[in-house]
Amino acid sequence: MYRSHSCGELRESHIGQTVTLSGWVAKTRDKGFVVWVDLRDRYGITQLVLDENRTSAELLEQARNLGREFVIQIKGEVIERASKNANIPTGNIEVLVSELTILNESKTPPFTIENETDGGEDLRMKYRYLDIRRNPVKNNLIFRSKVTMAVRKFLSGEGFIEVETPYLIKSTPEGARDFVVPSRMNEGQFYALPQSPQTFKQLLMVGGMDKYFQIVKCFRDEDLRADRQPEFTQIDCEMAFVEQEDILNVFENLTKYLLKEVNGVKIDSFPRMTYDDAMAKYGNDKPDIRFGMEFAELNSIAQHKEFGVFNSAELVVGIAVPGAASYTRKELDALVNWVKRPQVGANGMVYVKCNEDGSFKSTVDKFYDQDDLAKWAEATDAKAGDLICVLSGDANKTRTQLSALRMEMATRLGLRKPNEFAPLWVVDFPLLELDEETGHYHAMHHPFTSPKPGQLELLDTDPGAVRANAYDLVLNGNEIGGGSIRIHDKDMQATMFRHLGFTPEEAKAQFGFLMDAFQYGAPPHGGLAFGLDRLVAILGGQETIRDFIAFPKNNSGRDVMIDAPAPIDNEQLKELNLKLDIQE
Ligand code: ASP
Repeated sequence: MYRSHSCGELRESHIGQTVTLSGWVAKTRDKGFVVWVDLRDRYGITQLVLDENRTSAELLEQARNLGREFVIQIKGEVIERASKNANIPTGNIEVLVSELTILNESKTPPFTIENETDGGEDLRMKYRYLDIRRNPVKNNLIFRSKVTMAVRKFLSGEGFIEVETPYLIKSTPEGARDFVVPSRMNEGQFYALPQSPQTFKQLLMVGGMDKYFQIVKCFRDEDLRADRQPEFTQIDCEMAFVEQEDILNVFENLTKYLLKEVNGVKIDSFPRMTYDDAMAKYGNDKPDIRFGMEFAELNSIAQHKEFGVFNSAELVVGIAVPGAASYTRKELDALVNWVKRPQVGANGMVYVKCNEDGSFKSTVDKFYDQDDLAKWAEATDAKAGDLICVLSGDANKTRTQLSALRMEMATRLGLRKPNEFAPLWVVDFPLLELDEETGHYHAMHHPFTSPKPGQLELLDTDPGAVRANAYDLVLNGNEIGGGSIRIHDKDMQATMFRHLGFTPEEAKAQFGFLMDAFQYGAPPHGGLAFGLDRLVAILGGQETIRDFIAFPKNNSGRDVMIDAPAPIDNEQLKELNLKLDIQE
């Protein structure tokens, strides 16, 4: 028996008992006549003690020579500790060691295994297995397990069946590039790893599994933006014989359940907002609604004077930043520079200080009088002491810029509190999105998403106006889930592929199996997927998903621990019939 108790378990009630513990040496303190060892395992730390009076000289010497991270087993008696440590649950006791076995030695670790480590990110990733011994990482993994268990419990309670779908498949169109796997047995042919199990879960609906879920890896070969992983986990769900409302209700309840179970937070309000409203009010399809600063469109009250910048703009829009009227000239200049940074891209910013005496002071006093500015204040709901920030220009770009400013100001003002949760649904997404570069429309969600009833005709005349039965679940300014009601009619699916620029042959080659299935009684269906990594991070009050993944990839998509990706040898290339010199 390696252990009778864990290193986090012993209390005063165990005093007098003989116990066996196993774990890692976190620390030894050698006072000469007495040696203390902190023994660590997943459950905590227990202090071991050896001293001249009660321990043999040989054992004492052995303890003295223990190195950090040695794996040891000890036997000893639980005794009361003289100087108690209130910071740890085992702090009232210690174990007087009578036997000590070294189970394995350890090299000195490249960084300290402590909550605050001296190891940088790269080093920690290279030795991730040591990093996992640290509380912050370990606790995040335990937290993640708690979330996934709660998800499984809720969904199976609702009658969902967990079904595994294959990883070696054909392309799924979620808008990214595929990772491909060459087939040895089928020369010159490739599998693609799923960007999502989308087509399979729809086929499961055709198969009659009317409530499906899966906690599943997805693979997308995208240019890596900060905090994106090429492989990530979804909670993937699909239901048959449902309307949008049914789906929203189930997953609203799942979200509330998780917040209750995991965070102990009760959610009363779960608003639904149309995509158009979200864009108009927050400039963003994933608004953080934990705080105000809603957009006010000022065209009608700001385009009547001689101010050319506003008069020529498609949109003039502002927000009131609470308390920022007290900013100094220097701070205001810095703010204007902030919105002019290439990452935000505004040409400039007009601002109005709402003074405590009710007067206004703006950067455009030459053009606008106090009455004008009072109207802006009313529109933006600015109070005395607030700063109205106004951007103008192309409507879409300006909204995006002001949204960036709104989020920045909220962060600076401490309004994005990690332990406050405000979920909402954003609904009625556009079906199609214009690709500015190619001038073509592509599916905003994916090509299986159903247009709203009666809107199919619009596809020919005004494709950008078609709205879909598509929805996103947004939490604290992050999209944590998204889905749609699907097309279940073969002809409509064919029409959709045509509009998306697929020839009938291409559609058949890529998705013939789905169109075939739709000929055999496909039920009305819909579903959604949550991004598990992000969901866990947000519930954990953090934003970096890497911290909640056991073995994440770095920003270049590399696993620096196993050193992947890596070249493969010629033998393997030959076996796979891969020729690396591309013939044009
Ligand atoms: N397959 C979609 C995605 O990965 C989710 C869904 O439509 O259910 O975003």
